[in-house]
Amino acid sequence: MSEQERTFVMVKPDGVQRGLTGEIISRFEDRGLKLVGAKFMQIDQELAEEHYGEHEDKPFFDDLVDFITAGPVMAMVWEGQDAVRQVRSMMGETDPAESAPGTIRGDLGLDLGRNVIHGSDNEDPGANEREIDLFFDEDELTEWERIDETWLY
Ligand code: ADP
Ligand code: MG
Repeated sequence: MSEQERTFVMVKPDGVQRGLTGEIISRFEDRGLKLVGAKFMQIDQELAEEHYGEHEDKPFFDDLVDFITAGPVMAMVWEGQDAVRQVRSMMGETDPAESAPGTIRGDLGLDLGRNVIHGSDNEDPGANEREIDLFFDEDELTEWERIDETWLY
């Protein structure tokens, strides 16, 4: 088996408010990714500004910080082969209108602002580890092995 990798994923406030948390988690489970951390939480201003620091000079930065702090999020860490790229591919494009049907944003996203999910960028090396460290303490991540032979025929 190829090397396992972890990525940071978050159901954004619009996804939580619309009751899409379970649907989004299901998609990653169905794809074979493994959940190693999850935290239902409210992001404060400071964390929002740090998480989206790369966009601080963009015209949409203030709206983005307001949006991500507007209500609770489900922050998660998912593990699997090539997990960063897998998740980005399942998410679709940043703009739901540009995202193919079948992708999370293509099926569930409304517009650029309300695109239901965040996933670490595969074009920004180290973004996954940085974001995991920003949101989770080491002891909040649970390493586990599948024991399918016990639970399946
Ligand atoms: P992604 O979430 O796909 O990694 P970016 O990192 O480029 O996209 O942007 C972060 C978030 O900022 C996007 O998910 C989106 O919600 C918001 N955003 C990006 N570009 C715009 C824009 N032009 N106008 C408004 N919001 C934007
Ligand atoms: Mg990004």
